[in-house]
Amino acid sequence: MGIRVEGYALPTGEPFDLNIVGNVWVDENTLDLDLRVSGWIIPGLVDVHTHPGAAKPGDPIDEELLRQQLLKNMEDGVLAIRSPGLASTPPDWFGKDPQLPQSFHAGPWLAKPGQFISGWGKRVSDRDFPRVAAAQAGETGWCKIIGDWGIDDEPISPEVMLNIVAAVRAVGGRVAVHSQNTQGGSAAVRAGVDSLEHGMWLDESLLDLMRENKTALTPTLNVFESSVDHFRAKADSPKRDWYVQGCERHPELIRKAHEAGVTILAGTDSQAFTIVAEVQALARAGLSAEAAIASASWKARDFLGLASLKPGTSADALIYSQDPRQNLEILAYPEWIISRGKVMKRPQLS
Ligand SMILES: [Zn+2]
Repeated sequence: MGIRVEGYALPTGEPFDLNIVGNVWVDENTLDLDLRVSGWIIPGLVDVHTHPGAAKPGDPIDEELLRQQLLKNMEDGVLAIRSPGLASTPPDWFGKDPQLPQSFHAGPWLAKPGQFISGWGKRVSDRDFPRVAAAQAGETGWCKIIGDWGIDDEPISPEVMLNIVAAVRAVGGRVAVHSQNTQGGSAAVRAGVDSLEHGMWLDESLLDLMRENKTALTPTLNVFESSVDHFRAKADSPKRDWYVQGCERHPELIRKAHEAGVTILAGTDSQAFTIVAEVQALARAGLSAEAAIASASWKARDFLGLASLKPGTSADALIYSQDPRQNLEILAYPEWIISRGKVMKRPQLS
């Protein structure tokens, strides 16, 4: 009893031929097959920056909305997510329901007093930050730090950031940092955090250090592209200039980061966008189609510790009728979606 998946697998485009038994890939050919599937294969899409379940900023998780949004992710082929910040404690089924994406999360955002979105996250003093961050990462594997916030707000200092990273590493956890300012981004990169979220106004001279420390960058380009006109229309102010100029230089920063060997990851940040739209934005910023897909697929899985298309590991795949590198539009239309060995979508008979 099994499923055979054959065709061409990305990124190499080499011939692929593995079977699925239960929820894993197996490399044997003596099985009775229930189903044969063929096409261009990727190991599923991933959204590494999403905050599902809240109706609007500041609201707690609405369990029904959370389920709907995760179901939509699965229908789009998003087989895994990371939530760097959730509006409240997720229900027990989060990350466990086999109908929904595999999920990683960082609990509540951790911010300095007076910063971040009212109603969301925990406010933490500099003294308590390492302990609180380590406690969160000890529980869920990740913590999310608001490294900087408004232009007049004091960012988390380099020293506190170093202490946070040391405390979190000591419990085997990982650190994601929100940054939209040069100083906050610099403190995070110099401390060697695992991922820098947004990264606007990052000093380009830090890109080599990011590569060396394996600090990934999640630019969330759609959020900025869609909001920049709103800021452009405002009266002149330092905040307006900071936002508009930050948005305008961001795609070039992403291209340079990619060229410097920094891992670029795709994240939507908002339910208003799909991960495929973010892949397309990364391609517009100058990544090749293959690199842009990687940021939302095999590279992102690797970053989260998920194997891709390997015998003995979770059988996750999207199968397309054409090579999606030739046309990113079709990335949104997998013919088959297989998550943990279960067929979640099959071609419609016309
Ligand atoms: Zn976010």
